[in-house]
Amino acid sequence: MSEVKNSFKPMESKPKPILIIGAGLAGLALALSLQKLSIPCTVYEARPKDVRLGGAVMLSPNALRVLDTLGAYARIKSKGYQFETLSMETDERIPMGTYYFGSEQMYGYKGLRIYRRELVHELIAMAEEAGVHMEFEKKYKRVISESEDNIEVEFDDGTIIDAAMLIGTDGIHSQVREYLAPGSKPKYLGQTAIAGAVKTSNVSLPADYKLPVSIAGKAGVFILAPQDIDGSELLAGTQYAVPELTYAESRAISSNPEKMIEMLRRDKADWSELVQSAMENMIPQSMYIWPFYAVPKIESWVSTHSKVVIIGDAAHAIPPTIGQGANQALEEALGLSILLGKGNHVGDLEKWTEHRSERIASLMEMTRKMNNNRLPKAQRDALEESQFWKPNKERPGEEMRWLYEYDVAKELHGLGL
Ligand SMILES: Cc1cc2nc3c(=O)[nH]c(=O)nc-3n(C[C@H](O)[C@H](O)[C@H](O)COP(=O)(O)OP(=O)(O)OC[C@H]3O[C@@H](n4cnc5c(N)ncnc54)[C@H](O)[C@@H]3O)c2cc1C
Repeated sequence: MSEVKNSFKPMESKPKPILIIGAGLAGLALALSLQKLSIPCTVYEARPKDVRLGGAVMLSPNALRVLDTLGAYARIKSKGYQFETLSMETDERIPMGTYYFGSEQMYGYKGLRIYRRELVHELIAMAEEAGVHMEFEKKYKRVISESEDNIEVEFDDGTIIDAAMLIGTDGIHSQVREYLAPGSKPKYLGQTAIAGAVKTSNVSLPADYKLPVSIAGKAGVFILAPQDIDGSELLAGTQYAVPELTYAESRAISSNPEKMIEMLRRDKADWSELVQSAMENMIPQSMYIWPFYAVPKIESWVSTHSKVVIIGDAAHAIPPTIGQGANQALEEALGLSILLGKGNHVGDLEKWTEHRSERIASLMEMTRKMNNNRLPKAQRDALEESQFWKPNKERPGEEMRWLYEYDVAKELHGLGL
């Protein structure tokens, strides 16, 4: 039996808690899971509890399995739009294949597109019901000291807390990552998505048109995806190669819906009537831009004394092209909690995070190829076939099994953890 670094079970009269920084998807799922294992933890979130979170996320079977394990799937299932596939076609309606987001028969779950506010709201409610201690509007600042037995952490308001561990689930601009990899900043990947919502009834959809769909045209790829329970509202948008915006430029554009709609319509004349009808009817207050950033691979997600760990976007934010950021964050939240429940043996965290970064590297490669699928036609034509993501034509959906059948507990077992 290897040496145990920490025993988190509350055997002492007042055990030190694990501090979780960030009440996003990873932080909340991690807290819920630790609480189930009777491991004391506290969640600190910089934003107010009732902050308005915009947009929707696609959850795929790998993450829905995690949410099912936590008891959350049954509570959110009916709050989003369930679907299995995304049709890919040209703007002349020539089929290009099918992208599987889920399948009850193949992977155990359909895909679920759900508003982020609904999901976070439900996870916060569950954490509260379970008795998780959470503090909002409290911002993590820095690690003061770390030893084999202890970690001392400072917050922006000057509070200093002595803890068993510090877990950074503080997103792409993670401050906890700064401790592990000083100066590592997300890198712009040259593409920015521009999207928003449109009423389904305002789009010129042919009868029996299959949604969600990605439409490849001269100017790139345009996506239309239902995002509320009854499918009455669609996500509509595309991605462009544009130079990186400064923070001020990004803020200015994000607060100007008309400007974003104008950007979306940049190549309007090149699109089919169907896409043009979506572009014409965008709901202004739903518009957003999403520059694609990735966190460069950092040497380790774990500190020398294994007291600090980062997961989710903090460790590896990946671009939205294949919609896996939230899904991976949830896989990691469950994986880390199971590992900590076993006592944090020497070397286990390192072994697990190495496995996780290999999985993320595979997703980054898939993302790179899918981004090529979405280039303007002239650029697509200049690339070799091997540079595109391709569905399995003989056995549709087979190509996604490695991603969607991932079972966190089984993977840990397979790693000997
Ligand atoms: C528009 C949009 C659409 C997306 N769609 C999808 C999708 O369809 N499918 C998918 O899988 N992914 C999607 N993603 C990506 C997904 O949202 C992220 O990958 C996911 O939210 C990562 O979860 P996280 O918990 O790691 O980080 P986050 O959700 O970013 O949470 C981090 C939290 O930490 C808090 N925080 C930050 N700094 C501090 C600090 N110093 N102290 C305290 N708290 C702090 C933040 O306020 C935040 O609440 C989308 C992202 C965007 C922007």
